[in-house]
Amino acid sequence: MRIDVVSIFPDYLEGLTLSLIGKAIDQGLLDLGVHDLRDFAFDRHRTVDDSPYGGGAGMVMKAEPWALALEHVLGRGPAPAEADSAADSQDRLGEGTGEAPRPILIVPSPAGEVFDQRIAEDLAHAQHLVFACGRYEGIDQRVLDWAGESFDVRPMSIGDYVLNGGEVASMVMIEAVSRLIPGVIGNPESLTEESHEDGLLEYPIFTKPATWRGHEVPEILLSGNHAAIARWRRDRRLERTAEVRPDLLAELSDLDAADRAVLD
Ligand code: SAM
Repeated sequence: MRIDVVSIFPDYLEGLTLSLIGKAIDQGLLDLGVHDLRDFAFDRHRTVDDSPYGGGAGMVMKAEPWALALEHVLGRGPAPAEADSAADSQDRLGEGTGEAPRPILIVPSPAGEVFDQRIAEDLAHAQHLVFACGRYEGIDQRVLDWAGESFDVRPMSIGDYVLNGGEVASMVMIEAVSRLIPGVIGNPESLTEESHEDGLLEYPIFTKPATWRGHEVPEILLSGNHAAIARWRRDRRLERTAEVRPDLLAELSDLDAADRAVLD
């Protein structure tokens, strides 16, 4: 998968080069390009924002630097003012073949569709994701309209609160998507038992020692009885989901009699 991120604070994204995602990049499972929006602003001050039409507080990100940056990401248009790495400037779309799937442009925004595990799973099949990190009051709407000619544009919120910029939101989504790419997580089984995988939250987890500061590990987990352990874990998942996220439970249609007995 190819991921490009455009931001006025490219250093924010450095965290992605660490840990499992960094390893995935080193192994060639993920190809990450980070681009400084200001490299596509050609006035003396490399201006990327201006006052909003219609008045109001705050500044709005100007359309033209975004258009040039996104064209660059597509391998079209002029090189940035300060050249990116050679790898960043290659045409990744097989432009002109008409066969490559459209890249997906994710625009982090508190006014977007709420990102969740289902969307992460969907995006994990994409060939090319591009993240447009807004700042100030956000990006001139015409950029999103114009980008729709070349991208599938997806304004996306990571929750009902407001951040200062799209960088952290992009990192959240990139991490959630990348760990679903085959090979990124060493043991793929660890993905199947996680919270949100099947609509239930995860069961409580424990490790050695069996007694710690007077707190015991539930005895069933020491029993070696795999069927009983599986039932105990499912029961705890049901209880936890009912307590913390009853909205998730309401969406489940495959609860059996044993499940219902735990919830009653
Ligand atoms: N004026 C915008 C609004 O009211 O919807 C908020 C702009 S916010 C201060 C600046 C940028 O932070 C946004 O353009 C977006 O990139 C990012 N951002 C803030 N909250 C976010 C959220 N919950 N999810 C995703 N991105 C967010």
